[in-house]
Amino acid sequence: MPRPHRILATMTELLFPAPSQPTLPIANDQRRFPVHRIYCVGRNYAEHVREMGGTPEKQRPVFFAKPADAVVESGASLDYPLATADLHHEVELVVALASGGSELDLAQAQACIAGYAVGVDLTRRDLQHQAKNAGQPWDTAKGFDQSAPIGALSLAGRWTPAGQRICLTVGAELRQDGRLDQMILAVPQIIVELSQLFTLAPGDLIFTGTPHGVAALQRGDQVQAEIEGLPPLHFSLRP
Ligand code: MN
Repeated sequence: MPRPHRILATMTELLFPAPSQPTLPIANDQRRFPVHRIYCVGRNYAEHVREMGGTPEKQRPVFFAKPADAVVESGASLDYPLATADLHHEVELVVALASGGSELDLAQAQACIAGYAVGVDLTRRDLQHQAKNAGQPWDTAKGFDQSAPIGALSLAGRWTPAGQRICLTVGAELRQDGRLDQMILAVPQIIVELSQLFTLAPGDLIFTGTPHGVAALQRGDQVQAEIEGLPPLHFSLRP
């Protein structure tokens, strides 16, 4: 007599074990947040556009992505990445989605938000300059292994973005120091614009851009990233 559950098991057999699901911790909560995709906004703070040699009045914010398994949680010790001699820090507000959809309006966008965290968009700046100069995509500059350190999520309702301070310290040196109300596109507007390009889904994370002060990290550096009211993020680079 056939055993249906055995037939099902055969049909779904995988060539090798499925990759593990990347997740992030949630502050004051035993559950973890399963990561689906990581979207990022570039050129979302005018002073940072200027320090990169751009003109904020002429250049719109730009979207790119990182792989979901690039997430690293707070407290990690990272190897200095492959293929770069100019690894940069970019401290950013990260938005986490509990629901999604496409072509959302502002109210629908706001309703998708699960919570917020502090993240660092690690960037191989030398590869990004080469890509920009050659008119090539940014994937190798932005989407590398362990390029997305993110702190514990704070669930929406416990914290909402207003004009909070966002800063990053390397060792004892304050490198980046801005305010969230300096963002060109505010969080709901970012979600609206992304939803015109992609169908957003539960588990999506969005890096919302960095204030000015981006600079190089060295082997052995201790990095502390903070947004007023959110759990801090710290990580180090192995000597
Ligand atoms: Mn960035």
